[in-house]
Amino acid sequence: WAPWDDADNKPFVRIEGVTKKFGDFVAVDNITLDIFEREFFSLLGPSGCGKTTLLRMLAGFETPSDGRILLDGEDMSRVPPHKRPVNMMFQSYALFPHMTVEKNIAFGLKQDGISRDEIGERVGRILALVQLGKFAARKPDQLSGGQRQRVALARALVKNPKILLLDEPLGALDKKLREETQFELMNIQEKLGITFIIVTHDQEEAMTVSSRIALMDQGRVVQVATPSEIYEAPNSRKVAEFIGEVNIFECRVDSVEKDCAHLESAQMPCRVRTARSLDARPGDTVWSAIRPEKMVVSLTPPGDLSVNCIAGEVWDIAYLGKLSVFHVKTDSGLMVTVTQTNRLRETERTITWEDRVYITWSANAAVVLRD
Ligand code: ATP
Repeated sequence: WAPWDDADNKPFVRIEGVTKKFGDFVAVDNITLDIFEREFFSLLGPSGCGKTTLLRMLAGFETPSDGRILLDGEDMSRVPPHKRPVNMMFQSYALFPHMTVEKNIAFGLKQDGISRDEIGERVGRILALVQLGKFAARKPDQLSGGQRQRVALARALVKNPKILLLDEPLGALDKKLREETQFELMNIQEKLGITFIIVTHDQEEAMTVSSRIALMDQGRVVQVATPSEIYEAPNSRKVAEFIGEVNIFECRVDSVEKDCAHLESAQMPCRVRTARSLDARPGDTVWSAIRPEKMVVSLTPPGDLSVNCIAGEVWDIAYLGKLSVFHVKTDSGLMVTVTQTNRLRETERTITWEDRVYITWSANAAVVLRD
């Protein structure tokens, strides 16, 4: 079920023309964005692009300079943070060092004047959910980084927010634990069925956990899409380059047909055939973007060297176990990256440095970009 594709479905979070200025500096620049109930939504982008500022406006810690934010249909402009149906988990976790895990989690509920019985019941339930039952009596400094992260998560969830905002929630964990915890977060989100909005600068993390991603750059949203859409169909060179690796060739449109287009490039001696038509005219400058794993590197020349093929010399090879990364210097001096899985190749000898190779790709591997 993809609520963002359903025109009748109302957005749960609506960000309408929101701008945030600090003095003359525009940190968030006229962003409009809809997020739906039960989404695991990521704000992704390089450092300083305005992700945290946008999240803080959702929480109510910052006020928009312009525009408005609606949560569940209600304008939040005048609603203070503690009255919003949201809770925020900070990267620093902000746990109380002198309190036990149980007391840390119960703290917010106690302040809200909830009865002891109910607090006990809710804290017990959430401790079980994050698998910390055994650690209830420990203090934060007696826990591992991953366990502390789960206490912070439990503390944010115990207040039953409709939306949980997470600012780099896994930033303090090492790579392996981070990957494990991504799946735990996804599980918990699915079990509770609440909306998660996460800030991250790690594109792999965003790809793993998200229903959709908003890619931000210099205060603006440059593309909103599902992980596979943003990878397979980026809408600009900037997006293609931020999400994963890509080879980009500047091209000139030669001809556009109903279901394909032909491009020429000064950087390649061949013509590029695409599997889709283009909204472009002959003579226009476009860029063709091809992911390294969608290219094939071979010692044997293909039947037709004039279409979707570049010849070159192997510059270096990185062996990464399940795959190898080839850097090939083409005859026109361009460096092209190709990744290939290391299956047993019995028909061909292994490619080594300085070999003359042919890089080929199918017509549907190239995404044509206008900017
Ligand atoms: P990071 O991943 O490094 O946290 P980010 O994308 O979350 O980056 P923000 O923290 O939202 O970026 O900051 C966006 C820009 O706004 C930055 O250039 C930052 O210096 C600036 N900024 C943020 N808060 C303030 C503030 N209170 N006063 C002035 N400038 C600020």
